[in-house]
Amino acid sequence: MCQQMAEGTRWTKCMHFQRHLVVAIVDCSLKTCSRSLQHPKGCRDPGCIQNFGEEIQKDVDSVDEYCFACRAAQDRARRNTSS
Ligand SMILES: [Zn+2]
Ligand SMILES: [Zn+2]
Ligand SMILES: [Zn+2]
Repeated sequence: MCQQMAEGTRWTKCMHFQRHLVVAIVDCSLKTCSRSLQHPKGCRDPGCIQNFGEEIQKDVDSVDEYCFACRAAQDRARRNTSS
């Protein structure tokens, strides 16, 4: 199964990855993978792999903080407990 290689920011307090852009596709070269260049065009076989595998995460910078999603969740939790 092919994989996308993405560059992004690593939030080191929660270890989440914030993707900026996909920089490369790692081709698995399987004829049965619809994401591969080896896959025949026009193939309608539902048994072929349709999705990318696990993303390869390349940290281009890192921040010693929680990511936006985690901070929003923390804010929500704080508001719920104080009200
Ligand atoms: Zn593939
Ligand atoms: Zn196919
Ligand atoms: Zn996070």
